[in-house]
Amino acid sequence: MCESLGIPHQVVDIRAIHGLIDNSALTNSAIDMPTGDYDADNLSATVVPNRNMILLSLAIAKAVNIGAARVDYGAHGGDHILYPDCRPEFVEAMNHVAGIANFEPVALHAPYLHASKADILRDGLSMGLDYRHTWTCYEGRELACGQCGSCRERLAAFAANHSVDPLDYAIDTSQVAH
Ligand SMILES: [Zn+2]
Repeated sequence: MCESLGIPHQVVDIRAIHGLIDNSALTNSAIDMPTGDYDADNLSATVVPNRNMILLSLAIAKAVNIGAARVDYGAHGGDHILYPDCRPEFVEAMNHVAGIANFEPVALHAPYLHASKADILRDGLSMGLDYRHTWTCYEGRELACGQCGSCRERLAAFAANHSVDPLDYAIDTSQVAH
């Protein structure tokens, strides 16, 4: 995506800190990834301690490093119940911190903070985004699993938009999330 838009893309390997935060299915392969629908009981195993503060901290550092005044954050409305670091009060406080943690203030921008995944997908489709080049699955495999909460929400968002997900899945997804 970045290449096609001419945007520099930097990947940072932070696996070295997994030992600090390994009590989650997202950071410890020995913990089973939950499958099924997105709800707090089912997906609590996917909560990573302090995850978004860690990631935003790195992004804000990068912004200061290159003189950028803004960091965009993809928090969305569907995650408010399960993930405290996707809630408006967190974004508001983090925006405040980003404004004072350095001599160069950085603004935190979360345009989808109150939007559902169906709303976000509608926006992307209207902009012509090619969803074959996007990744949602919690599993780091070759193909998206089609069964984790994240895959199921994605498929439900496509169904809500009367659209078909162009991504290849490891399973037949035609019966999922309707
Ligand atoms: Zn998945």
